[in-house]
Amino acid sequence: MFESFDREIRNSDSMTMHQNFIGGSWIDGQEAADNINPSDTGDIIGSYARASRQQAEDAIGAARAAFPAWSRSGIQQRHDILAKVASEIMARKDELGRLLAREEGKTLAEAIGEVGRAGQIFDFFAGEVLRLAGEKIASTRPGVEVEVTREPVGVIGIITPWNFPIAIPAWKIAPALAYGNCVVFKPAELVPGSAWALSDIIVRAGAPEGVFNLVMGRGSVVGETMLNDDRVDAITFTGSVATGKKVAAACVEHMRKFQLEMGGKNPMVVLDDADLKVAVECAVNGAYFSTGQRCTASSRLIVTEGIHDKFVDALTDRLKGLVVDDALDTATHIGPVVDQSQLDQDNSYIDIGKAEGANLAWGGERLNRSKPGFYLQPALFTETTSDMRINREEIFGPVASVMRVKDYEEALAKANDTPFGLSSGICTTSLKHASHFRRNAEAGMVMVNLPTAGVDYHVPFGGRKGSSYGPREQGRYAAEFYTVVKTAYTLP
Ligand code: ADP
Repeated sequence: MFESFDREIRNSDSMTMHQNFIGGSWIDGQEAADNINPSDTGDIIGSYARASRQQAEDAIGAARAAFPAWSRSGIQQRHDILAKVASEIMARKDELGRLLAREEGKTLAEAIGEVGRAGQIFDFFAGEVLRLAGEKIASTRPGVEVEVTREPVGVIGIITPWNFPIAIPAWKIAPALAYGNCVVFKPAELVPGSAWALSDIIVRAGAPEGVFNLVMGRGSVVGETMLNDDRVDAITFTGSVATGKKVAAACVEHMRKFQLEMGGKNPMVVLDDADLKVAVECAVNGAYFSTGQRCTASSRLIVTEGIHDKFVDALTDRLKGLVVDDALDTATHIGPVVDQSQLDQDNSYIDIGKAEGANLAWGGERLNRSKPGFYLQPALFTETTSDMRINREEIFGPVASVMRVKDYEEALAKANDTPFGLSSGICTTSLKHASHFRRNAEAGMVMVNLPTAGVDYHVPFGGRKGSSYGPREQGRYAAEFYTVVKTAYTLP
């Protein structure tokens, strides 16, 4: 069906170097790195190029050179390229999902779902290309015409994290290309496989030379080169707070547009009147699925007194039944942690929680499975307080803590007592409390009787406070970042 299958098989051979794509050509890196399966560290998925500074600069130069023509390209051409990308992703959902689960460690079902999401995002933005429109507004000066239009920004540097290896690249690359920008894409070092496969699809879908460039490599080499190059007009970044601050500082220095999505410490409130089953499922999904490695994970479970003990008991029972094993095994509920350094971080926070006096009600121990991988029993802390480090700092693993509160008012205050503000959830059957929470939760996204993680792709995604900076991502709101507004006055 797609000419790609052949090429994919050839390139998935671990002996074959997966190259970067710069200025219309596939190019070897200065060095290469093995992509390792976190479910089975003896399984090497492939070898992936790491670009040099010079190669990153070449990619930026190629994008710059391609911009004048691409920014004036017809909407039909852009629509067709994005639609082709969407349909190939969809057709290869299972195969690409397998690759994603193998390199990142989320379960096969989650990984296939993520790939499907990437396809839907390209499909959405293929449609958006055809809906581009401006405004014609009456002038205050008689005879003058005023027109407000959106134009592409230029060269967009895209820097992505490892936890959503195809969906996050998709929700940045698709709008960038849709609105007529050129792209230099730097995926996370840990998950080059999905990024490479997506790039291969984009290239074969017909992106003209220089319009789309893939530069896999180190943040300190490729990423920093992008931050320091004047020819990059905008940077969209998802990753840690520490790196986000560097991106912001560099972008201010260069007076360029930027958008940051960083951490979360998302609360999920459970009130006495909640449906217990719904609350437990929201907690299991929100806190532990995808191994807790989601910036929207519910890491703080804030529970009122009347339901507290029942909730903790039911959640603990549910956790005991979860299968933690190889991501590719269909019986698995929770895959491994992504790598040793993330596992070390999770373990160190489990130690911190114990030292702070929290009660480790369940889990937290390292698990051995038939294959050598980074397996961790999901951990639940109870009797925790808002000032504990485990309730203030993002752990980014399968670790959640329960805070016992007296009533809704205290729950809301605790929910907002955090430097972050990405997603915020409440489980309740009270319309009054649900409505009050929707209005008063200090977060970019609010979920009522739904997990804090798990969003739609056609509506805005993003947070407040320390979680995000700049315009929202996804849906029609993406135009805010990927275009610049022009106001034109004409006296005919
Ligand atoms: P995480 O802890 O989730 O890996 P990081 O912020 O370290 O988060 O990484 C997110 C992305 O930022 C990755 O693609 C990484 O390579 C990149 N990155 C890391 N350091 C820098 C840097 N100094 N400049 C630009 N990009 C960087």
